[in-house]
Formats: sequence, structure tokens, C-alpha cells
Amino acid sequence: MNVELISVGTEILLGNIVNTNAAYLAEQCARAGLACYYQTVVGDNHDRLKETLENALKRADVIILSGGLGPTEDDLTKETAAEVMGMELVEDAACRQALQDYFAARNMEISENNWKQALVPQGGRALINQNGTAPGIIMEKDGKHVILLPGPPVELKPMFEQYVFPYLNALEPEVILSQTVKICNIGESRAEMMVKDMIDEQTNPTIATYAKTGEVHIRVTAKAGDEAAAKKLLKPIVKELKKRFGSDIYSTDETCTLEKAVADLLCAKNLTVTTVESCTGGMLGSRLVNVPGISDIYKVGLITYSNKAKRRLAEVKKTTLEKYGAVSEQVAKEMAKGAAMMTRADVAVAITGVAGPDGGTDEKPVGLVYIACSVCGKVTVRKNRFQGGRQKIREAAVSAALTLMRQCILEYYSEVTFGDRK
Ligand code: ATP
Repeated sequence: MNVELISVGTEILLGNIVNTNAAYLAEQCARAGLACYYQTVVGDNHDRLKETLENALKRADVIILSGGLGPTEDDLTKETAAEVMGMELVEDAACRQALQDYFAARNMEISENNWKQALVPQGGRALINQNGTAPGIIMEKDGKHVILLPGPPVELKPMFEQYVFPYLNALEPEVILSQTVKICNIGESRAEMMVKDMIDEQTNPTIATYAKTGEVHIRVTAKAGDEAAAKKLLKPIVKELKKRFGSDIYSTDETCTLEKAVADLLCAKNLTVTTVESCTGGMLGSRLVNVPGISDIYKVGLITYSNKAKRRLAEVKKTTLEKYGAVSEQVAKEMAKGAAMMTRADVAVAITGVAGPDGGTDEKPVGLVYIACSVCGKVTVRKNRFQGGRQKIREAAVSAALTLMRQCILEYYSEVTFGDRK
């Protein structure tokens, strides 16, 4: 069974809002075992929406439309879908009551055009909206299923979870389950080479690699009759990936981020941390602060952008700065050592580099970044050469710093030895 998504709204078409509903719905439909081959965005225009829906009905079993269910004139999704399905709009008593309750609970006057939202295509099923005024609708005809959902994600998501997911699940008994193996310290092409044979042989589960900044994610997806059977199919593939990538895998948990994996490691080893940043200007600290509960271990975040700050706050020697320059292995090392000492942290990470676009030289080009990590006095420095614009270089530096922290801690506790590869 396949599904097609239609996002309705001129705002989306113009790029004024990002189509997060389509991303959410596509992911959820896959979870329900439906294949999605087409997604369309169409403006608030009757004729074009009608044509889009008619085309979708020719090639999909289930069509989910989002947006355009509001009370105003330009909200015409329900009217157009009812017309295409040959259903008349009639008032639904439960929807009328829900509208009255919604406005009464907020002590608001109901305006005349809101009653339009109590109209439901005859024979269709209304889905009461707990978070807004527009009900969702499910229509069925000639083996086709047309589902209308409100545009605001805060309304769409709970409605999908409560009514639509169980409905789709009942239509399609097969489930699609994915697991992501998250890797750091290895570039995408190398990672792809390492699983090329597995990708070439894939049928079910399928294997796909995705490059993220400073990380590679390998997504394994299985299709089976039920969740247990899908999990069984995933297991040997994930096991094989673990064998191939070993300690470079920081997580196989969908919700785990690199900063979370590093924070968990610091907590597990009972280590406090300080960051000392030059070209990234606090971005590493910000990534760490993404992790709830980090305050237990995150001691100090220093931004030492100027040479003066490097000397004052991280005890970098004037002679080192003069001899080697701010972007150098020696300065990165002294920043990490000094910051660890000044703040009495077990781990200190330092970043100094040329983020560009200006300031690069032949000897020190844009993208050159030194990262140092001190773990209980043992300092490791890495020289990196990142590509891209200023923001990209800074983001890459932060990911590399997190990766280096993870490696240095694991190595310090002699759990693994990492090669210096990309
Ligand atoms: P309402 O009852 O609030 O008018 P609606 O069903 O008519 O809801 P729209 O008017 O199309 O929905 O969109 C309302 C808001 O919902 C948009 O301004 C936008 O913030 C959000 N929205 C709509 N469609 C999407 C989408 N595809 N992805 C993300 N957000 C969306």
C-alpha cells in the first residue's frame, strides 16, 4: 500500500515556512509500513489543488493532505477534497459541539465563519481537534483513503498519533523499522567503502549512509509482518556494523547525539570539563549545553578570541603566541593545559583556527584548526583542515572537538586506541 502527501499552503510554496509536516508525515507513514513515492506542495488555489488531488488518486492508495482547514475564505482543502470525492458537506453535531466547547473554555466569542469548520463530507469521519478548531477528516471511496489534517504542527502531530497512525496501521499490516548506527572519526567515503559489500547485497533490510557534519549515520531499515520480526531482521546487520566500526560507533540510539554520548562518557568516568574556544566562539559549549543535566560536570566555558584573552584566561605564554601564532599546535596545547589548571577541570578542550573568509595565508590557510584535549593532564593535539564557509568550518571544528574528547577519554582509560584517520 502506498501513500502520497499533499501540503497545502502558499506560504510553503513561497518558502516562507519550512515544510516540517511533510517530513514528519513521511517518517510516520514509513513507520506504519506505507511506501511514499510522491510529495507535492500546492498553494491555496482550488483548481490546482483539485488537479493535484485527482493525480494523487490515480497513483496512491492513501492521500494525506495537510493545511487549509481554517475558517477563512482561502482555506479550501476540505471543500475541494469533498468535491473530488463526490461528497456533500454537512454539519457534524460532534464537531459543532467541540467548536462551542473550544471557544467557551477560552472565554472567546465564536465568529460566524468558524461554523464552517463543523462541516464534514457526508460519509466521512471527523477527527476532533484537541488543540485547535479545525477537525481532521478521513474519507474512503472505491478503495482510496483521503485524510485531511490541520496545518499547525501542534495540531497535526497529536491528531496523527491519536487517530491516523492506528488507522494506517490497520490498513497496512507490514511495519517498517529503522535503526541508525552513528559513527564519528570516519569520513563518509571511507565509511561507505567499509560497507560497500553490504550495500551491494542489500534487499531487506536496506542500508544507507548519510553524511552529517563530522559524523556518518548508517541507517538500516527492515520491513516485516510485525515489529518483532522487523527487529529480528535488523539485529544481525547492526551486529555486523558494530564489528566493522567498533569504537567509532558512538551510539545506535535514534535520539542520542554526539554531545550526549560525550556527556554520558564524562559522567560515567566522573570527569568535569572546561571548554576554551577561539574561532568557534562558544559553539562547543553550546553543543554541550544541549544535553540536560550537563551542569553536574560542565565547569567553565571560556571564549578566548583575542590573544590577550588567551594569555589572561588560559595562561598561554606570550612567547608561544609570538613564536608560533595563535593558530598553532603549541597554542592549542597551552590553552587546554592552562584552562584545565585555571578551572580545576579533569578534561579541557581547546579550539583555535582560521574560520575565514579572510585571514588565511599559505602557511595557515582558511579551515586550519587545531584542537587540543587534556584528560587529567595528558594532552593530545589534532591538526584539522576543514572545507567550506565560515559557519561550516566552525561547525566541523565543534564536531571534531567532541570526537577528540571522546577518543581521548576512552584512550586514557585504555579502552581503545584510535588511529588518526578521517
Ligand atoms: P488553521 O486552522 O490554524 O487556519 P489550517 O489547517 O488552515 O489551520 P494553514 O492555514 O494552512 O492551516 O497553516 C497554519 C499554520 O500552520 C501556518 O502558518 C504554519 O505555521 C503551519 N503550517 C502549515 N502547513 C505547514 C507545513 N506543511 N509544515 C509546517 N508548518 C505548517
